[in-house]
Amino acid sequence: MTSAAIDFDAMPPTELAHELMPEVVDAAVSAPDQAVVDRAAAWASSAVAPHAESWERERRFAAEAFASAGDERLCGLLVPVADGGSGLSQVGLARVLEEVAAADFAIAFVLVCHNNLAGAVSRRAPAQMRERALGPLVSGERLGAFLLTEPGVGSDAAKITTAARRDGDEWVIDGRKAWVSNGTAADVMSVYAQADPAAGHRGIMTFLVDGSTDGIERTDGYELIGAHGIGTNEIRFNECRVSDADVMVPLGEGFVAAMEGIDIARVLVAAMCCGMMRTGLATAIDYVRKRQAFGGRIADLQGVRFRLADVATDLEAARLLAYRAALAVAEGRPAAVHAAHAKKFATRVAERGLADCMQVMGAVGGRRDHPLPRHLAASRLTHYVDGATEIQDVVISRSLLD
Ligand SMILES: Cc1cc2nc3c(=O)[nH]c(=O)nc-3n(C[C@H](O)[C@H](O)[C@H](O)COP(=O)(O)OP(=O)(O)OC[C@H]3O[C@@H](n4cnc5c(N)ncnc54)[C@H](O)[C@@H]3O)c2cc1C
Repeated sequence: MTSAAIDFDAMPPTELAHELMPEVVDAAVSAPDQAVVDRAAAWASSAVAPHAESWERERRFAAEAFASAGDERLCGLLVPVADGGSGLSQVGLARVLEEVAAADFAIAFVLVCHNNLAGAVSRRAPAQMRERALGPLVSGERLGAFLLTEPGVGSDAAKITTAARRDGDEWVIDGRKAWVSNGTAADVMSVYAQADPAAGHRGIMTFLVDGSTDGIERTDGYELIGAHGIGTNEIRFNECRVSDADVMVPLGEGFVAAMEGIDIARVLVAAMCCGMMRTGLATAIDYVRKRQAFGGRIADLQGVRFRLADVATDLEAARLLAYRAALAVAEGRPAAVHAAHAKKFATRVAERGLADCMQVMGAVGGRRDHPLPRHLAASRLTHYVDGATEIQDVVISRSLLD
């Protein structure tokens, strides 16, 4: 905080969360999952919220935040209890990430990428790989990253060109991966590579590669509009040699494996947007209740009230869409269209809603001694992660028209 900082007596995000929690969400979270949600919320407000702005200013991956997430048992959320994880349901996971993103999107996204990888290892990896890799991922001793996107291939992920070729009893990986979340610090990387171009997407396989393997070169983190804490960068593979023991998903199944978590990933982005909107609304409410103009509280001006009412309506609708989709995933029902609606709507209303919350705060809205500018910048990036908005429209329009 600067010396001229505004005293917001900030309303903790969880207070507003409770007021705005639709019964449908409460009912879907089991008691053990709720305990994890509560633990995550307490951790986010004590260990993340107070530091997130300085991490962003320093433009760095907050290793200390990830380490403390491990201490709080937040790194194996999708790994079954029998394998040392929390065995959280997808609805519980969405609630956890909503709470963490209410403090900071970057840290929430770090946890999403890591937890998705740990979950994929527990589901997909052969027994020997699970035995050696899962424990350190679940404890947070080792950080994971997911490497699908390339500089030349984004939305059309089946067309990746990073190559895996056999050489004796080794595999040799060559190519470039782009937009690697956690990439500047990752210890373990799931690398999607094309081993049989003639087979199209069926030629893709997945390796679980140690980040210190020879032939791996990392760039610095990208300079972005925001969310630098994700440590997103490019990673190059120059004749990187790995063995059969590093094959996580065999030839033919790699692309399916990459896509199998996509619905829940989109739901989680929606839930994270809800978390950021909640903080936006809480911060704006707190401010306009105190700020005076023309002989009264800004909070009593109808234009201000209605603007915040619109944000609240969008937040309610975004949460209902997000948790409807989370429930569909958790219950094994078709969820692709629900997830696409949820992600598209939540990302859209988060960006607009955060800007509206900043607007009712006047020029103070643009200052960085409260979290809204950080959340607004991050909300722009949510439009691209886990399938850009237009890809959600491809899914939705296909369900309507084909
Ligand atoms: C912060 C951040 C973190 C990320 N982390 C990861 C990560 O950890 N691992 C990873 O593999 N990737 C990651 N990504 C990459 C992300 O998945 C891609 O950005 C996304 O898939 C879109 O690809 P692209 O940006 O290359 O857009 P492009 O594919 O180049 O698309 C450009 C534009 O064209 C539109 N478009 C494309 N196809 C169609 C179509 N059929 N119809 C209509 N419009 C279309 C797109 O919607 C977009 O607006 C991350 C991205 C961001 C921003």
